[in-house]
Amino acid sequence: MLIFFSPNKIGLPDAYANLYRIHYCSDFSEWEVTKTVPLAFIIDGKDAQYVNKMINKIRRDDVVFASLCFVTELPAALDNQLLDGQLPEPSALQEKISDVEDLSKSFKNTETYITPQGRLIKYLWLRTGFIIQPQREWKNSRYYRYTLLEAFNEDTDDSFAWLRKLAVAKILEPVSLIDRQRECTHCRSAHLSFIDICPNCFEIDIALQPSLHCFTCGCVDAQDKFLHAGMLKCPKCSTHLRHIGSDYDRPLENYQCQSCNHAFSEGEIRVRCAVCEKSMKPDELVINEIQHWQLSDRGRVIAFRGEVFDLSSGFDQLDFISKELFVHDLDWMMVLSHRYKNISFSLFGIYFVNLVELVDEIGHTRLLQVMESFAQRLRNLLRIPDLSARTAENMLWLLLPNTDKQGLAGFHKRIEASMNQLMLESDHKLIYRFGSISSDQLSDQEDAELLLARLSGELL
Ligand SMILES: [Zn+2]
Ligand SMILES: [Zn+2]
Ligand SMILES: [Zn+2]
Repeated sequence: MLIFFSPNKIGLPDAYANLYRIHYCSDFSEWEVTKTVPLAFIIDGKDAQYVNKMINKIRRDDVVFASLCFVTELPAALDNQLLDGQLPEPSALQEKISDVEDLSKSFKNTETYITPQGRLIKYLWLRTGFIIQPQREWKNSRYYRYTLLEAFNEDTDDSFAWLRKLAVAKILEPVSLIDRQRECTHCRSAHLSFIDICPNCFEIDIALQPSLHCFTCGCVDAQDKFLHAGMLKCPKCSTHLRHIGSDYDRPLENYQCQSCNHAFSEGEIRVRCAVCEKSMKPDELVINEIQHWQLSDRGRVIAFRGEVFDLSSGFDQLDFISKELFVHDLDWMMVLSHRYKNISFSLFGIYFVNLVELVDEIGHTRLLQVMESFAQRLRNLLRIPDLSARTAENMLWLLLPNTDKQGLAGFHKRIEASMNQLMLESDHKLIYRFGSISSDQLSDQEDAELLLARLSGELL
């Protein structure tokens, strides 16, 4: 069944009526009486305001927020982020409907889809390749608006903050950069005015004043003080100035403050926010990169698994350093051990092969417990100078200073022993692999990045 919203009581062409049962409503409240879920909504596109009202109600509804929504014609002033475009020919419509039905079947509906994040994921999942785009709106204090995000999260009036959360959680990923905007430090508005002021007394009343500089006495003054009957004459030493470059020149300081008489070449810039009226220096402004976004791989995994498996909470007790820092320190150890033969170290990699599958087999909570117990054991095995980093959700690296081949063999034995306990806790279902190398086995052709890539390759 299709639902056709029209204030004018016009009908759809027979070609549609032959394929689908069509229910007509003049207003959203009329639909709300039954809340029947249609295959698609169609909105009479004559009046852009009417379309906007209908589409915003649909996207904010608990049940049909992700439904297909077409308009009979596309007025220019329409927000395309919330619509699925113009009503296609009947055969194309059938195709779209069956695509969405297929995607709907593979979408895992769990409790989490009551949340704004879940709704957004569902909307994007049903629209393969959908790009989240901002609208430009000069009346808006941020100038850019993500209307789709606003529709799905009414709890926040700052969709940029929500966007940042979605990006940090790696649910959305950037597609392309479209603007780099400076915003107010205090209220993040983009309505800023730039004004130059005196660098000495910070007053606004400064003026461009063409000046001259006499080479004979060094006098610098306003150009009109040098003008006498069409000739240039220094007001201080009365020398006639004939040639620019040899008798006189223009000083760089050609601004003068009318309040304190300070002369200068460049005023200071102050930024004033039109919204909160605070003022700040240009380097205090916040840079906001405005981008197009799409559902990430991780977002898609959530869509069809229905669960976010986040290892990081299980590993909280290990002090991971960033990958960049780890690579830097590994490089440093490689240089040291190459130069000084008495310095040794080892690199140890741990790869968990089947974490995602394990969620299904032993459950999320239990797996998290297993991981926590692993982290605990690992922490007991590590010494203070040992470093650890995580390069993927299921790939850990340990940098063990002062550990030669023999020391590495010892560490291997100890970690293997603690893995036995872990296997017991996971019903012997956890699959893991170790990879390691000690400094005396290194070639001097490799740097840290290459070494990590080679070892990862062996583990995967
Ligand atoms: Zn001044
Ligand atoms: Zn002079
Ligand atoms: Zn402001």
